Amino acid sequence: MALCGGTVVLGLDPVEVASADVVIEADRIAAVGAAPPGVPRRDCSGTLVLPGNVCAHTHLYSALSRGMPYRLAPPGNFLQILQRIWWRLDRALDEPSLRMSALAGGLDALLAGTTTVFDHHASPNFIDGSLDVIAAALGELGLRSVLCYEVTDRDGPGRAAAGIAENARFLKGGGEPLARGLMGAHASFTLSDATLEACAGTAAAAGAGVHIHVAEDAADQRDARAGHGRGVVDRLSAAGVVTDRALLAHCVHVDEREREVLLASGATIAHNARSNMNNGVGHSPVSGGGPPDSLAGGGESAGPRGPGRIALGTDGIGGDMITESQAAFFRAREASLLTSPSWPLARLAAGAGAAGQVFGEPLLGRITPGAPADLTVLGYAAPTPLSADTIAGHWVFGLSPGQVRDVVVAGELVIADRRSTRVDQAALAAEAAAQAGRMWARLEDIPPHEFAPQGGEAR
Ligand SMILES: [Zn+2]
Repeated sequence: MALCGGTVVLGLDPVEVASADVVIEADRIAAVGAAPPGVPRRDCSGTLVLPGNVCAHTHLYSALSRGMPYRLAPPGNFLQILQRIWWRLDRALDEPSLRMSALAGGLDALLAGTTTVFDHHASPNFIDGSLDVIAAALGELGLRSVLCYEVTDRDGPGRAAAGIAENARFLKGGGEPLARGLMGAHASFTLSDATLEACAGTAAAAGAGVHIHVAEDAADQRDARAGHGRGVVDRLSAAGVVTDRALLAHCVHVDEREREVLLASGATIAHNARSNMNNGVGHSPVSGGGPPDSLAGGGESAGPRGPGRIALGTDGIGGDMITESQAAFFRAREASLLTSPSWPLARLAAGAGAAGQVFGEPLLGRITPGAPADLTVLGYAAPTPLSADTIAGHWVFGLSPGQVRDVVVAGELVIADRRSTRVDQAALAAEAAAQAGRMWARLEDIPPHEFAPQGGEAR
């Protein structure tokens, strides 16, 4: 197949743009230039061809929570949001609702031009085999994924052990060709030393990184200091979690030294701008908005110091990285006018780099010969000149997920003319809504979670 006649964004960091055909053979990009005769052509004139976006942190299990009824007292802080919403929802999940969550959330991501998701999953009443259910659902859609089960002690030692076993089993691989694993762990404040050690050991044995929430709220730091005598980053570092394969979500409440430690390790930090705003947890110091030479990566020198990466995730607020990257930009811009429109593009490139690391595909996220053919075609008639110098402005101020026309993952056209080529979207939505209704009914009988961290509940 050849995507012909579009304006092609060859990469996002550095930004490169060309007018070219993209020739795809099997699961890879074979050539970028003029398509040879005889290759089936797909007309992409008047379109923008982009590398597929990567969501570096999400929770597909929350996909059926949209509009969910809520009858408890309004949560007043982040811990109460967990106790009263997410730690009830996860206990309501069973196999059919999880499958529909993954299908609905995965389709949302693809329709927005996202070709890879890093998912962080919890379903304490359906642990064994849960990652296979997600992998199979995403495989049905044709979405690339990196999955894990979030190990935690909040639901008791039996479920902590089952979570570790589920990760260890899934990390052995051999299932869906487009799915890989990381070792999942919830967050320092719900993990005992022994469980954290077991997570780090399981990850090391599998050669995988740990995907964990880090200092999303100040409560995580308070718990680490009160219960373990040091901050979250030092605790996780000592446990062997902070490695160059680690995926660390949030990192909102970290100081300058802790940021240095994380980025020097080569770990990937997933920044989730909309989620941080939605939960009122604070403004992450890795989220742009700093002076040009700061770790925050504001201004023109957008990259983090050290080998670590700063990528973007949605933390479960859909799978749309166009909107997420725009929100991250505006939030950073509000903090500092030095934030460049190219900053969110570099963050998306970092997410693709993290996915490439897991898949052993260093060219993932680039449209270049030999790279996996993961790309998105947007119907975008640029009203101003389009070039490497201007694409960031178009991205931040002009793109929208509604422009996504086609999506190719591993060489296969999985979205064509805004429709899935794999599943019946209307039937899927109807089935998801039915499952959501059943899950919401179960939720009514599940009380707030009683787990609380050490160190008190400020705010
Ligand atoms: Zn999260």
